Amino acid sequence: LSEIVIVGAGQAGLQTAASLRQFGYEGRIRLVGEEKGLPYQRPPLSKAFLKADSDPESLALRNRDFFEKQKIELLDGERVASIDRQAGAVELASGGRLDYDRLVLATGARNRALPVPGGDHPDLLELRSLDHALAVRDRLGSAGSIAIVGGGYIGLEIAATARGRGLDVTVVEAMDRLMPRTASPALSAHVEGVHRGHGVGLRLGEGVARIATDGEGRIAGVETAAGGLIAAELVLVGIGILPNDALAAAAGLETDNGIVVDSCLRTADPSIFALGDCAAFPAPDFGGGALPGRIRLESVQNAVDQAKCVARNILAEPAPYSEVPWFWSDQFDMKIQIAGLTAGSDRQIARLDEEKGRLTVYCFRDGHLAGVETVSNPGDHMACRRLMAERLSPQPAEVEAAGFSLKTWLQ
Ligand code: FAD
Repeated sequence: LSEIVIVGAGQAGLQTAASLRQFGYEGRIRLVGEEKGLPYQRPPLSKAFLKADSDPESLALRNRDFFEKQKIELLDGERVASIDRQAGAVELASGGRLDYDRLVLATGARNRALPVPGGDHPDLLELRSLDHALAVRDRLGSAGSIAIVGGGYIGLEIAATARGRGLDVTVVEAMDRLMPRTASPALSAHVEGVHRGHGVGLRLGEGVARIATDGEGRIAGVETAAGGLIAAELVLVGIGILPNDALAAAAGLETDNGIVVDSCLRTADPSIFALGDCAAFPAPDFGGGALPGRIRLESVQNAVDQAKCVARNILAEPAPYSEVPWFWSDQFDMKIQIAGLTAGSDRQIARLDEEKGRLTVYCFRDGHLAGVETVSNPGDHMACRRLMAERLSPQPAEVEAAGFSLKTWLQ
């Protein structure tokens, strides 16, 4: 092996390059990224970065020196336009051509557009990239109100930050609870209470019919499906993401809500791997049986751990990816942490310490622990990660018993 090309210079692409070097690969690495500048962290974009005038460079995952020292060629501001699998090369939109022995697709995802009249208004805000965050931060500084379409993690983090900056904030969510796709009802209810307590307006179970504009075409708020107007100077849409899998599809690789890979993160083409937000992979078995079908995870942990797996699998005998998923979100003073795959669980046992604002929700599937959601309870979160890594599970009856503690159970 002497030529590895990585498409996408985000969390997953950069980590793949770094891990290849760490595991001893000495050949050429080219990391091609559409965005200009150094690869950066996205999580702060909806959190600390929106609060204060911090420098975009503080978000960089590695400094320039790292790329030089590690001999990782960063081609930033370059988009890969197509893959010529026959020749083993990618073509750049700017006209160049890069040969590869192994190709890694780490193309991430893009925001889903709001499919209603006005959903393409040029002043609608969204958040995925640093450029988006700079625009949102700027607008938050001069506006008095914002309506956020979508009550998922990104929308709620922005709601908390905007509220902290003194704006009137309304979140419109089509389902009847917050974070409906991923959180248990107990977690949704707790987060709802905290947001309401801070004065965030929550309109649950309300669809958006159109983006409202004034006589001059300026954004005036959102009109709900029931006909009401939520007046706001700014409107931000955060209704989920779509994997960037068109490049793979155009090259004849299978896609199905993401680039389809096997348990070792390989596509059907043995020289092409895919990982991170763009990859659909078979759900590992964390005990109690594997989930049917494929999953796609949108988290830093998944991007980083899959990158280490891909780097190892390129250089050595391929082994399946099996890391326990985990994720965090910061909203007001809540540190939300989720370990395991809680979506699709069939039984949940919630423990709330109201005084301390701590919550732990144990989520079971077929009597086996599928994951644990915590709010401001990092001890339980870490214990769950350890336990799941060993494929252990307490019985639901044990968890229900008075005084149950995961940490004690583990000892
Ligand atoms: P990305 O980081 O999106 O990188 C993909 C890169 O590929 C992009 O730069 C893109 O421009 C580039 N690209 C795409 N196509 C091409 C092409 N054809 N040619 C060249 N380049 C291309 N996760 C958490 O765990 N906790 C959090 O609190 C959290 N908060 C978040 C907040 C925000 C605002 C956002 C947007 C995400 C957050 N995430 C969080 C998710 C996390 O950041 C992502 O899961 C992670 O960045 C995925 O890494 P990736 O490399 O797969 O994709």
